[in-house]
Parts: sequence; structure tokens; C-alpha cells
Amino acid sequence: MPNLFGQPDAPLPDRPDRPVGPFAVVALENALDKTLDYGIPRRLLGRLKVGQRVKAPLGRSNRATFGVVVALTDSTEYPKIKDLLAIDDDRVLIAPNMMRLARWMSRYYCTPLGTVLETIIPAAVKRRTGAGVVHKVRLNRPREEIQTLLGKTKGKKRKAILGRLLLVEPGHDIELNHLAGEAGTTPATVRQLAKTGLITLHAETDFGAMRAAVYQSQGAADAVPEPELNPDQAAVMAELTPRMRGGAFSVNLLLGVTGSGKTEIYLRCLREVIALGRQAIVLVPEIALTPQTVRRFTQRFPRVAVLHSGLSSGDRHRYWQQIATGGADVVVGARSAVFAPLPNVGLIVVDEEHEASYKQDTAPRYQGRDVAVMRARIESAAVLLGSATPSLEMYAKVQRQPDDDKPWPYHLLSLPRRVRGLKMPAVELVDMKQEARFRRGVHLLGQRLERLLEQELAEGHQAILLLNRRGYSNFVHCSSCQSALQCKYCDTTVTYHRNATADVQTASFDVGKQTGQLHCHYCLAVTPLPPACPACGKKLSLFGLGTQRVEEELKRKFPNITYARVDSDTMRSAKDYEDLLGRFGRGELQVMLGTQMIAKGLDYPNVTLVGVVSGDTALSLPDFRASERTFQLITQVAGRAGRGDAPGRVVLQTFQPDDPTIQSALRQDFAGFATKELALRREVGLPPYARMARIILRDQDLQTLQEHSEKLAADVADAVAMENLRGPSSSRIVMKGPMPCAIGRIAGYHRYQLLLSSARGERLQRVLAAIRDKGDLKKAERVAVDVDPVSLL
Ligand code: ADP
Ligand code: ZN
Repeated sequence: MPNLFGQPDAPLPDRPDRPVGPFAVVALENALDKTLDYGIPRRLLGRLKVGQRVKAPLGRSNRATFGVVVALTDSTEYPKIKDLLAIDDDRVLIAPNMMRLARWMSRYYCTPLGTVLETIIPAAVKRRTGAGVVHKVRLNRPREEIQTLLGKTKGKKRKAILGRLLLVEPGHDIELNHLAGEAGTTPATVRQLAKTGLITLHAETDFGAMRAAVYQSQGAADAVPEPELNPDQAAVMAELTPRMRGGAFSVNLLLGVTGSGKTEIYLRCLREVIALGRQAIVLVPEIALTPQTVRRFTQRFPRVAVLHSGLSSGDRHRYWQQIATGGADVVVGARSAVFAPLPNVGLIVVDEEHEASYKQDTAPRYQGRDVAVMRARIESAAVLLGSATPSLEMYAKVQRQPDDDKPWPYHLLSLPRRVRGLKMPAVELVDMKQEARFRRGVHLLGQRLERLLEQELAEGHQAILLLNRRGYSNFVHCSSCQSALQCKYCDTTVTYHRNATADVQTASFDVGKQTGQLHCHYCLAVTPLPPACPACGKKLSLFGLGTQRVEEELKRKFPNITYARVDSDTMRSAKDYEDLLGRFGRGELQVMLGTQMIAKGLDYPNVTLVGVVSGDTALSLPDFRASERTFQLITQVAGRAGRGDAPGRVVLQTFQPDDPTIQSALRQDFAGFATKELALRREVGLPPYARMARIILRDQDLQTLQEHSEKLAADVADAVAMENLRGPSSSRIVMKGPMPCAIGRIAGYHRYQLLLSSARGERLQRVLAAIRDKGDLKKAERVAVDVDPVSLL
């Protein structure tokens, strides 16, 4: 048949070698954005399973590359097929349900399937750290042949080895040491014999040693008695119990004020699910910061696996193996614990579901809470989300009424009061503008906070002071140039950090006398503080606040108290933090002063005073979630006060006393805040009323970046136009950009972004899929897609 150019097509070649199935569909780990088909060599047939990790040849040089078998098929559209090289691990590392979850993540977060699978399987599991090796032996010739040979062979030892092997059932192996022992010889002799080709030797991984229990539980379940539920908790359980027992998919948002007994509800739900023979996952925002919470799980149940960052690679593997084989009832961990290979998940608890740390900021840029919901849907499990300040996304979702009669699986439950009749702390607002007017000098701690601190500490109580910014001062300003020193590699101002050894007693704002460094909180570059402005040589001064500066003032004003500063500069490891909490719990410290690290989940009954040094730090960030974050942070830290018999007080210092968010935080009124904020979001079409996707481009050369951005933007605009033609205008996609990111340069890379939003997430998914198919997203180091972004900086 003539083709377009009038010439006949070359005849199709005969393909005697046309590949015959089955084939393995493999997602390689090298971020290639498609799966490849491979032939299955005979020696692997029957052993190869979906979910195994394999080695496959890639490219002209047939470089051995790791990947996961994602499907087996009988036909392939590719004429030329290479064979798999080897099965790397006999275990099915990705169970069928997890494969479905991985496929969803790959689509939804616009990430190659291989990259998603690589994330799901921990590195220690891939390396098989700590697993043993056993050598196995079998006959390599037909039994008759061996039998005949036995008659002729002289060597006694060889005879004994072959004779013993004949007793092994055909197709089975015997362990090398075992064989040598029974044949009255040594493994070395058996190895010698293998060289003749009569027998074969191969190595297998031995996971036997990995099954030893590594629970961190302290004892039997009855060691810690369950408290009797109060009426609010009982009402919540009356609704949840049938849902847990029913074993169907549901999402339950538990909105409970701080200290209302949410954790007790988690524990009761876990018990229900375990009784049914299913397992559960508990996600916590940061495992190192929540030792108290974690302990409550390990005290209540005997088979709890805690996945924390301090685990050795061997233990990590051991846990995984144990979890996968049904050896743990509960897995507690941060974000990535959502991938724990439990055989039958019945419940996933997400504590403090609003926390930004559930979002991963490298590919795959997934939101752990949302992945938990999807996993639960796939596995017909329940999700229990807890928070005193839920994310507006979830809050809006549970309040939505279903459009039709279809059952709506999202539910809102609430615990409006603290347990044991304890009162919510009283919050008072201090206007720092007024304070500055009547008081000489710079004061980070206002008079009211000072007085209450004095009073509460004198009564033997403890206090927590929050300032969500580390370092000493976040502006090093030259009054002559009228500018603040910037990071050399980023478009950000640098923060001044004092040396740890600096004598904090001598407060001086004269730069000339300061010793310390300038830190960039974005690229982490550290440079010495110059003695004068590098541009004009004039004097520099320090403005803005950080935890070090509060520490200095606290020490000056209260020279005789015991305190600790808690931020990522002073807390280098989980152990540091654990030690510190231990000291605080034993009353060896009167005050903890720090960043949001101390705002989470702490339950110390002797804390009666919480001071928010500045409620404003997050308010002015160029991010539509600035108000939400501010409200959350203030409410969470306020919740640390008054958890024992003595009532709690909170002092909220601000320069913006009339700001509506500050006002809502003052009244600790989540519903009021949410209603107002949601109305605003709806009006301007922001999440949760729109879904967002952000495409971030970067390059060291600004012009290259601009050109690349224009080109990509043109492709995206085409795809958006196509999509907008297809669907209703009420959910049309809006594209913004290309434009520089709020932080235009980080670590020497210029950054541009495109923002896409639509009322319907599927429409964004289709646009992203179109540009992904076009190959526009291939260069992961230059372009990143962030679906449902949490940070817009
Ligand atoms: P939340 O997680 O809502 O902040 P917690 O579950 O930590 O609250 O409960 C606060 C404190 O009250 C904990 O010390 C907990 O042991 C205790 N508690 C919880 N439920 C009860 C109850 N029904 N009776 C008595 N104490 C309880
Ligand atoms: Zn920098």
C-alpha cells in the first residue's frame, strides 16, 4: 500500500522472534514518566509477581535499573522487548491495595509512578538491612543420571552429598550447611562439587531473624486503666462505635477543644478495630515533638510499632517486615507511616489534621491526611481526624450536605468542653502599641505578661512563652542605605543569630559589639555578621525579634528563674527534646520559651500561663492561609494552659489588636473564625472553594527561566482553553502567571510560577495530564508541580 509519499511501505518483516507473553509492566525508579514492558525469562516464570522489586535493563547500554512490577499482561504493543534481568526481592513489597493507592497518587499529584513507589518502600527494606542470607543446594541433572553416576563415582564425600540430595523431593532445595552436616562433609566440599555442574548453589534472603518483636510497648493492656468516658465523649463514641464495627469507609472529623479528651476517643476506636482483627495507623505531625501522645498508645496496647526518625536502618526494616506479616496492631508515625504495609487496615487516625507538616515538599508532593482518606476508601476503613482547629478544607467538607440521597461518608463530631470540668484558659489581649507609648526602651515582654509571670512562678506554677521565629533579629538594617541585608543566594532578608556562648546578660543593640552569624532560613547559608554595611560602610542596627532576643530579655528581667529555649537551633535531636520535656515535667524548669515546637500536644497540668510574645508573626505572610495559621497557632499554644486543677491564663501580645483573626483567637471561637474566613474564601474563589495547582519553574539564569516559563505557560494556556471549552463555565479554570514567586530566588535559583485554580479538581487533573503527556514536566529539576499547595512562597 502506498504511503503518504507515494511509495509502497516496506513489507513487514517476518518476526519469528515476535515476543510472546506474559510480559511484566514495570515502573522504574529513575523518574521516567511511563511504565515499560519487559519479557519474563523462563527462570523467573512462576516466581514473578505484581508488587515485586526487579532489575531491568534500560537504554542502549542496558543499564540495570530498579523498578516495581505493576502488572502482568499477555500482550504488548512494543515489537522489541527486553527481558527482565532479575527479581531483586522475592517479597511482594507493594500489595494490591497499595498499588491502587500508588496509581492514584501518581495521577493526582502528577508524579511518575516509579517515584511514588520508591517513596512507599522504605530504603532499608530495599536494601534488606539486617536480613540474613542462606545458601541453598539442589540437583542440576535428572535423578536417573545422578543415580547412574553414583555407581561409578569413587569419592566417598561426593557420593554422600549426591546421595543425600536424592532424598530431597524433586524441585526442592536443601540448605548448604544442613546438607554438609548430614553428608558428613564441609560446605567447602559441596561448593567444590557445584563447580562440576552436577548441583547448583544459590543464595536466598532469610527474613527469619527479622521477626523478633521490637515493640516499644511497656506492658500489658491492663497496666493503664481506661478512664470512664464523660458524657460528651460517650456521645461521640455512641456514634463512632457502630461505624468502626460496620467496617465501611467513613471520614470522621473530631472537633474538640484543647484538653477535651480527643486522644481517649482515638484509643477507644483503636480498641474496637483491633477487636475485629484489623489494624490501625496513627499519624502524628512530628513524632519527635509528640512523645507524650505516643506514649499513651504504647501504654494502652501491647503490639504497637512506633516509626520514629531515630530508628536504625536495621530496625526500620525489621518493623516493616513485622508490620507486613501482621505482627503489629497499631503503627504510630509521621506522614510516611500512612504507607505502613498493614495487611488489613481498619482505621487511620490523623492527630492535629490541620498541621502543615502532613504535606511533603518534595516529589511526590502529597498531603498525608488526604492520602490517608484515599487509602481508607480503597481499604474500606474509617478515618478519624482530630483537631481543635481543623483545616478549613476538612471543616467545609464535613459540613456539606450531600447533593442527593447518596450516603455522604463525611461526619462532624464535637467535644466542646474540657475533661473533668476544667475551664478553658482566659485569654487577654495586650496592645503593644500602647505599651510602646508608655514605656521606655524596647520590651518584647509587656508589663502585664511580666507581672503574671512573676505571680505564677512565685506560686510554683510553670509557664510557656511562644515566639514563632528563631534567631535574634530578623532584620539587619542600614539606615543610610535604607535596606536590610539580604541573603547572597536568595531574595530574603537574613536573620541574625548570636553565638551560643555569647553572654546574654549584656544586652546591646550596637552591632559593633555583637558576635554571631547571619543565617538564611531558606538556603541555610551562614555568614559572619559584617562590622559595618557592606555597601556604604555605615553602622548597621538590629531590628525585629527572634527567640534569642526574648531569651535575653527574660534572663535580664528574671535573673533567678530556670528556663530553656526550645527551637531548632537548641534542639538538635529528638533526644534533646525528650530530655527537655522530662526536665519540664519534673518541674526542674519553670519556663519553656520557644517556637511552634512547644505549641503541640503538650499536656503539663502545672502550666498556668501561656504568653504569646507576638501574635502577628504569621499574619503578614503573603499567603492566603496566613489568618488560618495565625488562628491555629494561637489557639493551640493557648490550649497548653490550665490543664490541671489551677486555672490557666493566656496573654496575647499584638500590634494589631483589631485584626479579625486576632479577635477570633482572643475569643477562642473556631466556628466564628471559620464561618468568616470561609465566606471570604468563597467570595474570592480560594480553597476549599477552588482546587489549586502550582507549577514552579526554576533556573540559575533569569533569562532562560523567563523563556522557559513563557513557553510552558503557552502550552498550559492551550490546555486550559481546551478544557474550558469542554465544561461548564462555573468551574472554568483560571490561570495566573507566569510570574515571579513571592520569594523570587532561593539558593541561587530564580523562581517563577503558574497558578491554576478551578472549582472542580478533575478539571485541573485533566489539564495537568495533558501537559504531562506533552512532555512539559519531564525535567524534575527545572519544573515542579504542586497539587493542593500548602505554601505559596
Ligand atoms: P486532647 O487530645 O483533646 O487535648 P487529651 O485526650 O489529651 O485531650 O485529654 C486531656 C487529659 O485528660 C489527658 O491527661 C487524659 O488522660 C485526660 N482524660 C481524657 N479523657 C478523660 C476522662 N474521660 N476522664 C478523666 N480524664 C480524662
Ligand atoms: Zn539564602
